[in-house]
Amino acid sequence: MTRALYFLHRFAMILLVSIACSAQNQSFDKAGPARDALYEISMLNLDYALVSYTFEATDGVLQMSSRGADQFENRWATFISDLSAVSESGQNIAINPMPHGQWSFHAEKGTVVKLSYRVNLDHEKHVWSGGIDGVAYKRDHGVFYSGRSLFVMNGRGPESITVNFEVPEHWKVSAVWDQDETGTNSFRVDTYDELSESMLFAGEHEQFIFKRDGFELLLALGGEEIIAKNEDYVNLASGVLDYYIKLMGGVPNPSPENPFHRALVIINPYEQPDGEVIGNCISILESNQADPMAQMISRFVYAHELFHLWNGKSFFPSDLRCEWFKEGVSNYYTLKALYHVGVLNEESFFAMLNGFFYKRYASDPGVGSMSMTQGNEKHDHWGLIYSGGLFAGISQDMIIRKATNNKHSLDDLMRGIFSDLGGTNESYTLEDLQNRLSELSGQEQAEFFETYIDGSRKIPFDEYLKFSGLHSEIKLDNLSILRQQEESPQEKEMIQGLLGAN
Ligand SMILES: [Zn+2]
Repeated sequence: MTRALYFLHRFAMILLVSIACSAQNQSFDKAGPARDALYEISMLNLDYALVSYTFEATDGVLQMSSRGADQFENRWATFISDLSAVSESGQNIAINPMPHGQWSFHAEKGTVVKLSYRVNLDHEKHVWSGGIDGVAYKRDHGVFYSGRSLFVMNGRGPESITVNFEVPEHWKVSAVWDQDETGTNSFRVDTYDELSESMLFAGEHEQFIFKRDGFELLLALGGEEIIAKNEDYVNLASGVLDYYIKLMGGVPNPSPENPFHRALVIINPYEQPDGEVIGNCISILESNQADPMAQMISRFVYAHELFHLWNGKSFFPSDLRCEWFKEGVSNYYTLKALYHVGVLNEESFFAMLNGFFYKRYASDPGVGSMSMTQGNEKHDHWGLIYSGGLFAGISQDMIIRKATNNKHSLDDLMRGIFSDLGGTNESYTLEDLQNRLSELSGQEQAEFFETYIDGSRKIPFDEYLKFSGLHSEIKLDNLSILRQQEESPQEKEMIQGLLGAN
């Protein structure tokens, strides 16, 4: 069957199935979920996407994602034009704009509607506070769209969604959804949320797949300068993934309410390096011209976000009091992973601790006056929560390693929470963390929590670091860390553990 025939066949089948079901269900619950929806997206032109969306009407409103594009009165609809709709019987349906980028239309509930629209890919002409990496952009070798920028949706969601792409010859589509066996550019999606909270790249890029025990990491590399270094990216992506799997004792194991078995990383060249995450998709922009620190940040974003597939999505806190643990301890394992794969060495690891984290911690006005349990402040007080959480995590690691002669460490805490809560809907609390940490070190951690976690005292991080035999000192908000001339075998082992060497 040719592609065109397949699409026609599919469209006809969906029509038949939905008509049959609606006739059959007339006396049944009409409030249940609608039947399959179909998106057919033509990306033959770099400047825009043409979308046709076939769905069973559940209400009279068409809308796009409620996340992002807040700077525009019409939100994501700013980039949508040429909307038209017909019913299954071929009648035109009028589409009327509503405030805030929604549209209204009139069709009986259950009517099969085919909506057509155009997404104009000129998002780059505007300013985006988080950068273009989570929005939509074009390169010579292809196009990047976030699901938020691409999909107009009706109602709360059909039973399943099919997304078919039409792209130029030699192009492929990298997306996080399940690929239909029948066609490489055809995907199945369960919910509208999964559809819009996603990213995709269509073009002449290279895709690598790392399969690990039912979990897949997709790596899409675009542009000559990135593809030329594909070995580095493959080593980074798979090395960090394997480090986390070994550390945690398994691939991500999400709660049954938010299942996933795939993550997608898209890396493209751009003038301004950046990194962004939406759902289980990570978008990285790389620049040859950027200074080494900026280039490091994009690798850091990748490794940090990947760790959230465990710390954040496989196990998660019951409330915002544990954001320091979710973000700060993830930062700690990010540094370890980057050291483990050779992106960082001892010197740059310690330089990151000071230049990237300690300086922000020391200069955050919340440190000394606010508790790091105020997780809702994490964006305004990055230093207190992302850095402070990192320093609290390393301090606890040092306490456990010292108390157990390096037999145990913070790794045991991570593995323990993952094995107890992974794959469940249960969450952990601040008290759980304190209890588990006290148990691991065999030392009651109430005072540490009262003082530095619930309390607002600055963590004397240099003192905890000394447990490992490192020479550390804080002077004028500068954290210096040096190896001692003489180190005991135990100290050497502790330092290796801190760095993530094994
Ligand atoms: Zn994070």
